[in-house]
This record gives sequence, C-alpha cells and structure tokens, in this order.
Amino acid sequence: AIRMAGVTKYRGAQAVLRDVTFDVPPGQVVAVLGPSGAGKSTLLRCINHLETIDGGKIFVQGQLIGYRERGDLLVELPDAEISLQRRRIGMVFQSFNLFRHITVIENVMAGPIQVLGQSRTQAAALALELLQRVGLAEKADVYPNQLSGGQQQRVAIARALAMKPSVMLLDEPTSALDPELSQEVIEAIRQLARDGITLMIATHEMSLARDFAHRVLFMVNGELVEDRPARAFFDTPRHDRSKQFLSRHG
Ligand code: ATP
Ligand code: MG
Repeated sequence: AIRMAGVTKYRGAQAVLRDVTFDVPPGQVVAVLGPSGAGKSTLLRCINHLETIDGGKIFVQGQLIGYRERGDLLVELPDAEISLQRRRIGMVFQSFNLFRHITVIENVMAGPIQVLGQSRTQAAALALELLQRVGLAEKADVYPNQLSGGQQQRVAIARALAMKPSVMLLDEPTSALDPELSQEVIEAIRQLARDGITLMIATHEMSLARDFAHRVLFMVNGELVEDRPARAFFDTPRHDRSKQFLSRHG
C-alpha cells in the first residue's frame, strides 16, 4: 500500500533521505526507528507530500504521490490534487492539534462533514463509533482541554480514522505523554493494527515497535540501513548502528 522507490531529499546541501526504497503491503504495521535526526519524520511527511522530494517516487495504493509524470520529468501536482491524495492518508503527530473551541465529537466529525460532505447525522454516528473504538465514547461532549494528553491523542487518532484513510502515518504518537498515558495510546494503536489498517509509526518507544510491528525500518543519517521483520530486528540486529541503538533503548 505504500511504496518508495529511490527517494532522495535534500535540505540545502544536506541529504536527509538517501535513495530510500521499500514496499509496505496492505495491513502491515511498520515501525520506523533510528536516532534523532535520522530522517524518520521527514520520511513520513514525504508520504503525504508535506515535503517535496528531489529524486525517486512515492506511491500510496499504486498512486504516485505529489507529482505527475511528464516524459522523464516529475511535475508537482496542483494543491487541489494534493489535498485529494491526502484524504486517503491519515496522519497523527506528536502534538495532537485538536480544535480547542469545539467538543471531542465535533473534532471527529469536522473532516467528514467539511471535506467528505457527510450529513451531521451520518458524521455523528461514525464519530461515536470511532470514539468507542479508542475507548472515549463517554468523552464525546467535552472539550479537548478537559482531556489528558493520552485521551487527546486517542481523539486525534479517531479524527484521522474518520476520513477512512487507506494508510495511517503516526509520528511519535506517544512521545509527549507520560508512560501510563502512552499505554492507552498504544492500546488504541494496537486495535488499529488488529483491524488491518496499514500503519507506519515513527517512534522512540521500543515497546510500541516490539509489541505489534510486523516490520522495522531502521534509519541512520537519511539512509535505510535495516529493513527486517520486527522479531528478527530485535533478536539479531545486523547493523552496528542498530545494535548500538538497541543496547541503548532496551
Ligand atoms: P527525531 O527522532 O528527533 O524526531 P527524525 O529521525 O524524525 O528525528 P527528521 O526530523 O526527519 O529526523 O530530520 C532529518 C534531518 O532533517 C535532520 O538532520 C534535521 O536536522 C533536518 N531537519 C528536520 N526538520 C528541519 C527543518 N524544518 N529545517 C531544516 N532542517 C530540518
Ligand atoms: Mg521525528
């Protein structure tokens, strides 16, 4: 469902993605690991074209993201088409970015109403179902500032799911949270994994990766240095940097 082929990206003279290639099949849960500055967030942000790329191609469900081909050249798509592509790609960030002035359920309903043109009744039913799924149905009518960080993050996940994305990208979904709160969020993500949604999760939280990632992409300095089944990565890391990383992060 997500494919990168030879993706390269520069920031000024610095290469932040170096010829990155991988292919994630539908329903797979992928943990993106690596030291700070390795390019994990950049990688995820390129997948929904929050960042341009300088070489290679990215496909989601077979569709080329961010560009159209003109002969040998790639030409960036107009904003309207990029927005259409983004609808199918859910993204959840470290900082939850909920709308402060509306209730939890209204947060989840906003996208389906404004972007997908659903009726309020339809959107409310879906929102309630999703809030149930992340264990927050009873909080539907409160405002985000009445929730804990973990609860807010679960609302952010429900809000992303309301757009029925074919893939979800999660960038450090638990790193702003206390350990107990991150456990709640991990539980919600585990549920998504069970439901068979394609997930890519950049995280420093090894338990998140160990518990239910099928696969690990380990990055160092913009380069994908290991792409292995999660079990194999944790049991027998190959690259020196992976070994080092694992000995430090438990
Ligand atoms: P972390 O684990 O700290 O979140 P990361 O693996 O997500 O790190 P990125 O944020 O993708 O790393 O950063 C990759 C590289 O791009 C780093 O060298 C970083 O300094 C650089 N970078 C990231 N964001 C910007 C920016 N807005 N402007 C300039 N350089 C940036
Ligand atoms: Mg990051």
